[in-house]
Amino acid sequence: MQSAPKAGALGARYWFHRVFKKSWLHPPVKRAFLGSAVEASACTMRRHEGTDSGDDQMLIIDPITPKQQQQVIVRTSDLLQQCQRHFGQVFKPVDIQFDLRGRSSGMYVLKNGRRYFRFNPFIFAKYFDDNLATTVPHEVAHYASDILFGIKNIRPHGKEWQAIMHTLGVEPKVTGNYDLSGIPLKRQRHFTYACHCMTHQLTTVRHNKIATGKARYFCQKCDGQLSLN
Ligand SMILES: [Zn+2]
Ligand SMILES: [Zn+2]
Repeated sequence: MQSAPKAGALGARYWFHRVFKKSWLHPPVKRAFLGSAVEASACTMRRHEGTDSGDDQMLIIDPITPKQQQQVIVRTSDLLQQCQRHFGQVFKPVDIQFDLRGRSSGMYVLKNGRRYFRFNPFIFAKYFDDNLATTVPHEVAHYASDILFGIKNIRPHGKEWQAIMHTLGVEPKVTGNYDLSGIPLKRQRHFTYACHCMTHQLTTVRHNKIATGKARYFCQKCDGQLSLN
């Protein structure tokens, strides 16, 4: 198991108090004494932690190898040359990053005038041939339609994009139908909370529970309630 429990990794120890009854949600939720309606245990914490962060996943796929990355790069450049021949226009090579996480296989990015592709090295690893056949042209077609028409002037998967997909000999499908077990989820954003003695990093899930009054957290060291820092 590579993934250490998050709570330990972050040095954060706190009690988890969950309010079960809706009637307790009237703000401000006072700290006092929720009796048996409150569950407070480190085990619950840890289980929640695992569920929140995706640490429960038994088997994480290995990302694609450098050799496979090279295949993706070659495939991308082949497709750009096809576009070039077909449209009689130069499509400059753009950066390819293998840093996409979560449920998307690929992404075309235009940001501050910079264009690049991001591919998900885990989904590619699990379905390499299919992603080479479909995801790479899908993103290349976004890039080509941006160059040809301007990304703001067209719908992302509209007729311009579809026509380019046809040009590339690929069916213009928008979503893949992949089983994503073993694919790591996106890295969670963390929120910094403080008690009386230290700061604690909470996940978005917990932050939202606090914000909506569904849970409160207390430092195990000083017993202080955590509040957004
Ligand atoms: Zn798309
Ligand atoms: Zn504390």
